Amino acid sequence: MSDPLTEREATAEALRLVADAAGPYLATLSDRLVQDPAGAPLLDELDGPLPERGDGTLPSVRELLRIGTGAATHSSGPRFFHFVVGGSTPAAQAGDWVTSLLDQVAGLWPASPFAARVETVVLGWLKDLFGLPASYGGVLTPSATLANLTGLAAARHWWAERHGVDVSADGMLGLPRLPVLSSGYVHPSSRKALQILGCGRDTVRVFARDDAGRVDLGAMETELAAVAGPAVLIANAGEVNAGDFDPVGELADLAEAYGAWLHVDGAFGLFAAVSPKTAHLVHGVERADSVAADGHKWLNVPYESGFAFLREPRRLVQAFAMPDAAYLPVGDEARINYNSLGPESSRRARALPIWATLRAYGREGYRAMVERHHDLARLLGELVDEAPDLEPLAPPGLNVVCFRYRRDGLGDERLDELNRRLGAELLEDGRVYAGTTVYRGRLALRPAIVNWRTGEADIELLVSVVREIGARLTA
Ligand SMILES: *Cc1c(COP(=O)(O)O)cnc(C)c1O
Repeated sequence: MSDPLTEREATAEALRLVADAAGPYLATLSDRLVQDPAGAPLLDELDGPLPERGDGTLPSVRELLRIGTGAATHSSGPRFFHFVVGGSTPAAQAGDWVTSLLDQVAGLWPASPFAARVETVVLGWLKDLFGLPASYGGVLTPSATLANLTGLAAARHWWAERHGVDVSADGMLGLPRLPVLSSGYVHPSSRKALQILGCGRDTVRVFARDDAGRVDLGAMETELAAVAGPAVLIANAGEVNAGDFDPVGELADLAEAYGAWLHVDGAFGLFAAVSPKTAHLVHGVERADSVAADGHKWLNVPYESGFAFLREPRRLVQAFAMPDAAYLPVGDEARINYNSLGPESSRRARALPIWATLRAYGREGYRAMVERHHDLARLLGELVDEAPDLEPLAPPGLNVVCFRYRRDGLGDERLDELNRRLGAELLEDGRVYAGTTVYRGRLALRPAIVNWRTGEADIELLVSVVREIGARLTA
């Protein structure tokens, strides 16, 4: 009864259930509460003991759809401005389903020449899209955290080699602390990557000239001179509080002058390269030794999707190949084993949704989307400027706007408290989702615009809901 062998015929029907549910779900995605409190009780229905006899294919899939479409966070809709979260373009979403349908073992060329080839093709397209040299190597990762880890693992290998150590074989024993220099914009995921790599998250030295975190190039240069050996610079192309950028080109100059490794965390900010209006923000990224970015943010492909690019492709092999696994075939230029180039071994063919979306919308489609979001951030900045009860805390960034609710006569402490409550109530309200942060010591909202569905009406709704809740809290 509950053996998949006896349910073979149900597969297509089960997929049809999902496809049938997708239409109404996606049609209402733009108008739903981002988080519907009515969905919360459904979570309990997930529970229960492990079934002895299964319910069978169709009833189980029906249940998952019923609970999921009700209880999930509708974060791929247009009004989820929290964190930096993209949606799924129509082609990317379908491409992701194809990934599951074909269920490829991507990473070993003989297991799927198809998956390897798609990965090679999309990495080429992405380099072209971002203005990175075609000679760069690359690999798809599950996220920007893992892409940061990939770039920094290669950096660590390069640095240890300078100290006469093969860190892949011998580890860190006997090595000094890895010198990592960055601005105050450095993202926690870079620290996490260094933590996983055994370098320690506190090895990052921050050189900031103000409390926003803007880089202090002079102090960084003094430190580079003092290190008197190989060091790693992390440039942050797109920081999450206000959408600002480190001056990548100037960091590239420093790296060049001092023989340092330049890693660029461009999780979402790398997409500035797609438009001539914003490309200056990432000028110099084409001189980086390693570059990390996300697919599940601004590329709008489903989770999980990230990519890492390396100036010297062989650095990936040095950091990640598994030489002792004799049964793993060795690849070459044409037959690449991508599991030798990144932190994963077995992996899904996450290139497929990327291929589908780039094929569907091309450079122009992405340029239009990035420019639209950039313009929407300007619009949000204007609405904040015009509203007497809102206060900008930074000029609108690439696609992030940092501001707070204010009321005359309230000091900063009271305003922090007010904005903290406002942030919590905003999430409870559910019409729009935006997160809070502490920016220059003040509690702030920092909506990020990365979803292809988002339009002016969503931005206007965000502002009006924030003002409505703020007015209620100060009434
Ligand atoms: C989101 C983000 C990351 C981490 O990306 P994940 O995909 O969540 O792992 C790293 N750096 C920056 C600047 C980010 O915005």
